[in-house]
Formats: sequence, structure tokens, C-alpha cells
Amino acid sequence: MNDLMEKIVSLCKRRGFVYPSSEIYGGFANIYDFGPLGSLLAKNIRDVWIKKMVQERNDIYLIDGSILMHPKSWEASGHTVAFTDPLIQCQGCKKRFRADKLEGWKLEKDNQTGKWNVLKQGTLICPDCNGKLIPEIKEFNLLMTTSVGSVEGEKTKVYLKGESCQNIYLDFLPIRDTMGVKIPFGVAQIGKTFRNEITLGKFLFKVREFEQMDIEYFCSPEKAKELYEEWKNIRFNWYIDTIGLNKSNLRWRQHSPEERIFYARDAWDIEYKFFGEFEELEGIHDRSDYDLKQHGKFSGKELDYFDPVSKTRFIPNIIECSGGLQRTFLAVLAESYREEEVNNEKRVFLKIKPSLSPYKIAVFPLVANKDNLVEKAKDVFNLLKPEFMTMWDSIGNIGKRYRRQDEIGTPWCITIDYQTLEDDTVTIRDRDTMEQQRIKIEEIVRLIKERLHV
Ligand code: ATP
Repeated sequence: MNDLMEKIVSLCKRRGFVYPSSEIYGGFANIYDFGPLGSLLAKNIRDVWIKKMVQERNDIYLIDGSILMHPKSWEASGHTVAFTDPLIQCQGCKKRFRADKLEGWKLEKDNQTGKWNVLKQGTLICPDCNGKLIPEIKEFNLLMTTSVGSVEGEKTKVYLKGESCQNIYLDFLPIRDTMGVKIPFGVAQIGKTFRNEITLGKFLFKVREFEQMDIEYFCSPEKAKELYEEWKNIRFNWYIDTIGLNKSNLRWRQHSPEERIFYARDAWDIEYKFFGEFEELEGIHDRSDYDLKQHGKFSGKELDYFDPVSKTRFIPNIIECSGGLQRTFLAVLAESYREEEVNNEKRVFLKIKPSLSPYKIAVFPLVANKDNLVEKAKDVFNLLKPEFMTMWDSIGNIGKRYRRQDEIGTPWCITIDYQTLEDDTVTIRDRDTMEQQRIKIEEIVRLIKERLHV
């Protein structure tokens, strides 16, 4: 594991950002829980995505679809046959690997049948135990299944969502008919996705249960190319301006014609330099009219649109932007993790954008054993709590409390001291510069609000 990744995994566990799922039972293969701090960071990422992509626009509708859907929808989308990875197994330790990710292998997938053809055989040495890999590729479908129904024996096999966006295609019809939409328009959704991934051990980067943040933008075939470029820009800039990732750690990668799914006109990934290596953060695809055509065919419904201006009827084309919450979360931590030396001691801090920080403010009484200081600090705490996620800390010396807040990315710490009792002023300390300023209690809310909106 890369050094920075190790530090982040350890911080996530130590400070309540991420816990391995079911740890008391020994954990559960590549599934994680967001802990008290992590769930706030995840929520803030979702919130800023919704704010920028839905609230600040007037052409995007937000939905929140169910996880279980009619099984036919996964046949229509092609997932039941084509959602496969090429699996290769070790004769010795029996571990399974994705052949396309091993050294020297070149494979090509038939996107209609899910079959993988070997163009060039690569290494046959197991990366884990150095044993021999069985030189045979098996197609492994990533969809997870469960069953629905109350009578044993009459239950229906259903799929957990292999990609979260499928509801959006199915809800196109009711949205078209109830919302008075005019093309172009988009539908946004943040939803759970389940994949039986073969490659494991990359912390939050590759998990079996995760969330996707999707926008499906419906447009006319003539406008698709232009809107595709527009969406590429919008999404790339969101990671820089709203999430705070450094531009030099982001790049574009176009899918090669062999890699691109047969119906897509163009496909690009936004990649982030995760721990030294560029890997996918979000996929932006020009999917033509394939999705609505397929669901129209399988459901027997007309999934088209009548354009009142051109007086034409057509099946809308779709521009898809599909990003991962867990990967964005990891990128935020990787980008913001800092270590520096202060007075011969190591200071670890997360330089997260304040809008994403789990807690915005921490409130400290200078000492914990003076009732009048504690009481005054509680007043300030109660004043701030309804406005911002605010943390109380009265344990240990002030320096230690600052360090604890630095490590979880709290941008401002407020200390109530003896002077506060005289003039109603407090010190506010900045996480990044460590500078302190004296301000009036009545000014705190306004000042923090101003800083949060910078
Ligand atoms: P990769 O090949 O990197 O696994 P993918 O091409 O299968 O990704 P998509 O199907 O395009 O991914 O999904 C859209 C987004 O969902 C990805 O860009 C990524 O952010 C996220 N994602 C996909 N698979 C996982 C996973 N197993 N764990 C966490 N996030 C994922």
C-alpha cells in the first residue's frame, strides 16, 4: 500500500471516518461503513453535488429511486449477459483476479454477449502467492441477486442495482408526462450500486456496495455533440471549484474504440491521481438513444418526445455523467491530507474546503474546571449549534484540542477565556494558518457564514 494511502486508511479508522463493515465478525469483503465523521463528509459531498447540479440550474430534476427494479430492466440494459469481468484463478491459493488488470494481458470484450477474447496472454504468476494461474478466462457477471416474494418456492429472482442510473431511464416516461419538461433537460440521482467486484483491497476505491452520483441529460440527436462538450466541462470544473481537487491531479482519458460500448458515440473518463496513479473518478458518456430504445422495446411503451418547436418526434439521446461518491470522498482526503512540523511536533491536518468539513466549528472553554468559563462556552456552543455542525471539546490542553480538530479538518476553533467573561469576545483560530483573531460573540455566525461562502 502506498504510504499516503496507509496514513489515510489509518486516520479514517482512528477518527471515525470509515469502518470496515461488520468488523466484530472479522469484516466483510470490501464493504465499509461511513462512521460519525465520514457520514458527515459524505453528506456534504452529496449536498454540494445537488446544490450545483440541481438547485443552481433550472433544467435538472432530482429523483430518488428504489434499489429493487423489475428484473426485465436488467435484461433490456444488457447487464444480465454483458456486465462481466474476465476472471482468472490461481491454482495454488485459489484467489481470483481480473485478467485485464494483470501484466501483459490484452483482452477484448464482446459487449453484446459479455464474452472476453484473449488477444495476448500475459503473466501466469499469481501476484499474491507466486503460484501458477490457470490459463483459462471465465466470464464473471458482476450483478448481485436477491429474491422477492413471500411464498418460498415462488420467489422471483431480482437484481440489486449494478448501476444506479437505471431508474432514471424508467422514470423518463412519468417525468415527461407529469413535469411539463422541455428538452433538453436532465434527471439527477444519488443512489446505491452493488457489484460483485473481483479486484479487492483498494480501500474505498473499489468496493462492492457504493453510491453513484448520476446525471442523465436528455437531448435531441442534433444537440448531443455540443451538449456533451458542455457537460464534460461542467463536471471537470465541479471537481476543481466545488470539491477542491487540484487541476494537476485531474486528467481526461478517452475510451478507445475497442473499450467503448458499441452504442456509445463517445466516452471519456475524468481521472484523479489516486496515490500516484491516475484512475477513474467519473465517466461521461454520449450514449445515443440506446437506453430509451431498449427500454421501449422491452416494455412496449413509447419512450419518445414530441418537440413542439420543430414539430418532430424522436427518442431522446442521453449524455451521462456518472461519478462515484466513495471515490470522490477518497480523493478529498488524499488531496487535503497535510503533515508539517510545528514546535518540533508533527501536525496532521486536513485542508478540506470548509463547505465539506464534517464539523465547521469546535468550541472550547479554556479550562474545564472553571464553572463560569464552561457555562459561557456552553452559551456560545448553543448559539452556534442550530447554525452549523459544531463540536464541543473540553478535554486536555488547548494545543491538543487544536490538533484533534486539525486532523478531522475542522476549519475554525473558538476558545472562551477569561477575557470573554469581561467583554464577550472570543478567539477564533484558523485551521490552515493557525492564526488567531479576537472577535465579538455576536459576530461569529455572520463571519462563519461569510467564510463558508467564499
Ligand atoms: P472502474 O473500471 O474504475 O471500476 P467503471 O468503469 O466500472 O469503473 P462506471 O460503471 O463508469 O465505472 O461507474 C461510474 C463511477 O462509479 C466510476 O467512475 C466510479 O467513480 C464509481 N465506481 C464504479 N465502480 C466502483 C467500485 N467498485 N467502488 C467504488 N466506486 C465505483
